[in-house]
Amino acid sequence: MANEEIHPESVAAQALGWLDEQTRAINPPIHMSSTFLRDADNQYRSGRVYMRDQNPAFDQAEAVITELEGGHQTLLFASGMAAATAVFQGLRPGDHVLAPNVMYWSLRNWLTGFATAWGLDVELIEMTDPAVVQAALRPGVTKLVWVETPANPLWTITDIVATAELVHAAGALLAVDSTAASPVLTKPLAFGADLVMHSATKYLNGHSDLTAGTLTTRVDNEHWQRVRAVRAQGGATLGSVESWLLLRGMRTLFLRVRTASASALHIAEHFDGHPGIAEVFYPGLPTSHGHLVAQRQMSGGFGGMLSIRLRDGVDAAIAVAASTRLWKRATSLGGVESLIEHRGSIEGPGSPVPLDLLRLSVGIEHVDDLIADLERALAEI
Ligand SMILES: *Cc1c(COP(=O)(O)O)cnc(C)c1O
Repeated sequence: MANEEIHPESVAAQALGWLDEQTRAINPPIHMSSTFLRDADNQYRSGRVYMRDQNPAFDQAEAVITELEGGHQTLLFASGMAAATAVFQGLRPGDHVLAPNVMYWSLRNWLTGFATAWGLDVELIEMTDPAVVQAALRPGVTKLVWVETPANPLWTITDIVATAELVHAAGALLAVDSTAASPVLTKPLAFGADLVMHSATKYLNGHSDLTAGTLTTRVDNEHWQRVRAVRAQGGATLGSVESWLLLRGMRTLFLRVRTASASALHIAEHFDGHPGIAEVFYPGLPTSHGHLVAQRQMSGGFGGMLSIRLRDGVDAAIAVAASTRLWKRATSLGGVESLIEHRGSIEGPGSPVPLDLLRLSVGIEHVDDLIADLERALAEI
């Protein structure tokens, strides 16, 4: 859907100018109907048969995301995991795929557990190094490469342009988990990715009150048709109310992401070199891994996610998370309220994440309050 004349901020704020022609309502209705009436001759001229895959509540949210990502088509799913796993289920047993060795933990577990048992040949590599990607690609055998950038929980950056070139030369598809960047900061399809995935639970919705996932494709192709079938037949689809809430949440996407990004940079700079902190991981810091690539492929900020390592180790990390008041001790990210999390506790044994690491999701509170709360918690250990 071409909409060249207006800016993405306006697309999001107006949900692509949705208007109900019949009632003149400026917000869409919520259709609570699992089924749709057949015509007398047994046809479905409305184009809708059954809610599972044809819920009218998907239409506007999918259209907004397609426009923001500059893609061909978007599919909503019941969670980010449902969206991500549909990409891999659209492949065939025996296909070789590459994924990062440090990435969103639940998807890493699904790939090494379920997907491998199902027959995918999953290889985890150091995705941020193009030479490693080049060496791991098997032309004709590798079917898909999965990139997460910035990547949980060290916020490392993968160069989408450079990776896409290598992946396409080997005849494979490139999918990017762009959850942490959001379409405000990065448009992976414009850099050559074939698919972009979001956990819409995070920035797209932004209010920590639902789970949702999205996939957007650059072009229609055979793999996309299989992904469509995975959703339609597997049925991991979003409910009507959640779809409506997601559309509502996206109206403030740009304000939320820009505020969180500006605050996160401020917080990273403030705590970089702090006596209680051994290391700050944030792609906006000039000393950080991938800062130069981040400057090229992120515009308007480096996101609202950062991590810190405590100089006094795992006990200090747990103590800090236990004593912050504004920063809520909870998993997830991308909501209006700031969260703090000891990743080692949630990932458990086998995790490559350092045990003294705290992951911070910066919300839209006043940045001075967030800094003061963390300073106080650090002083108490
Ligand atoms: C949360 C998250 C997911 C999974 O999404 P759910 O909505 O929780 O299923 C995938 N990737 C990243 C980067 C995430 O943060």
